[in-house]
Amino acid sequence: MKGTAVMVMLGVLFVFVLGLGVRSIFLAIGTFFEDRTMRKDCAELSRMTEERNEEKRCHDVERLDNGCEHLWGAMIGAFPADACRLCGLEKECPPGECDHIWRIEMAGVPFGYCETCNLRYVKTNLAQPWS
Ligand SMILES: [Zn+2]
Ligand SMILES: [Zn+2]
Repeated sequence: MKGTAVMVMLGVLFVFVLGLGVRSIFLAIGTFFEDRTMRKDCAELSRMTEERNEEKRCHDVERLDNGCEHLWGAMIGAFPADACRLCGLEKECPPGECDHIWRIEMAGVPFGYCETCNLRYVKTNLAQPWS
C-alpha cells in the first residue's frame, strides 16, 4: 500500500517534470526559430550593406584610376576640400547626376566650378564676419 502511494507520487512528479520539460523544449524551439529568423535578417542586412559598400568602393576605385596622382585637400576655401587639386575629381562619388570635375577660377575672387555641369562651388560653412 505504501509502495503504491510512493509510485503515484513519483508518477505525479514524473508527469510534472515531463510537463515542465516539454514546455521548456517548446520554448527552446520557439527561441531557436526566432533567433534563426533574426540572425537571418541581420545577415541579410549586413550582406546588403556590404554589397552596397563594395559596389561604391569599386566604383570609386575605378573612377579615381585616371592616371592622376591625386592631391587631396583644398588649397583655398573656394575649392572643395575633398576634391583633387590636380584633376578635380572628388574623393568620393558625389550625389547627383554629375561626377564633378572641379576647376578653380582665379579671376577676381577665386571660386571653384565644375567643368562638366558648371556648378559653382559654394563653401557652406564659410564664416562671414562682414555681414
Ligand atoms: Zn587627381
Ligand atoms: Zn558637375
